[in-house]
Amino acid sequence: MSYTKEHVTQARVLIVGAGIGGLTLAALLEKAGIEYIVFERAKAVVPLGSALSIGANVMPVFEQLGILDEVLKNAKPFGFSTGYNEQREATRVLDYTPAKTIGGYLPHIISRPILYDILLRLVPTHKILMSKKILSLVQNKDGVLIRCSDNTTFHGDILVGADGASSGVRQSLYKNLIKKGELPRSDNAPLPFNSVCLVGQTRPLDPEEFPHFKDWHTWFETIVGENKPYAVSAQVSRLLMPIILCSFLRLPQLLLEVSQVVLEGFKV
Ligand SMILES: Cc1cc2nc3c(=O)[nH]c(=O)nc-3n(C[C@H](O)[C@H](O)[C@H](O)COP(=O)(O)OP(=O)(O)OC[C@H]3O[C@@H](n4cnc5c(N)ncnc54)[C@H](O)[C@@H]3O)c2cc1C
Repeated sequence: MSYTKEHVTQARVLIVGAGIGGLTLAALLEKAGIEYIVFERAKAVVPLGSALSIGANVMPVFEQLGILDEVLKNAKPFGFSTGYNEQREATRVLDYTPAKTIGGYLPHIISRPILYDILLRLVPTHKILMSKKILSLVQNKDGVLIRCSDNTTFHGDILVGADGASSGVRQSLYKNLIKKGELPRSDNAPLPFNSVCLVGQTRPLDPEEFPHFKDWHTWFETIVGENKPYAVSAQVSRLLMPIILCSFLRLPQLLLEVSQVVLEGFKV
């Protein structure tokens, strides 16, 4: 395909993907006064998901963006993450408390849609182009040119692939590197898909019935099934409990059964 001047819009940083990664970068560039555009293939922003655990090392970024207080208001810290067997005996405890000594913060659990909303507010709407699926990229001495599924093209100095685990930007880069024989073999291996993850959350729960909600910190608990192909993780958020079920089999019907075990576990 040949590109004409009319096709080309000038921008400095082109960010593909308006997920948490793309929006965080956009917010930082906005603050730094660097030109950018975000391209998102979805028609509209629909913040989905349940809980996100944010590493302690991310907190200074929120501080820099001026949103730390808002994030902390909506999040709960955790110092430990505990793994249990089915008898609810702790079999593994991960201690995150040294993070506080080293960097000043504990890791936190926050509702993913809330964090997404906080970040989205930092990026002017006109700088996020929706329904723009990036199909290909061409690098040349002047920068990089991307082509979208609606046949529009955009030119920039830097392209950032924030387009998720199956990043098309990365695949395009790899194609070029493969042609030149420069892609390391380990990078050419397909992503392993050996388990299924189901994510959900409870309805808002009554703290009188589930007193763990009154604690200042969250509980990050995992129950590993005995001779069963699944594990369940749950965290206590502000009023509801996000649950993640990881299974090596496609057994979504187990979610109900297992989440009941978790809820009962939190009652005692
Ligand atoms: C069950 C589960 C639990 C997780 N829990 C955590 C956790 O607790 N903490 C944590 O840090 N991480 C967690 N992760 C990983 C987490 O999802 C990622 O850290 C985070 O979402 C990555 O954000 P991202 O912006 O890089 O990518 P994504 O959230 O995947 O966003 C990518 C965006 O790019 C868009 N896009 C894709 N292709 C194109 C294209 N060609 N053109 C234009 N747009 C495109 C997509 O529509 C999407 O909006 C979890 C993942 C799963 C599956």
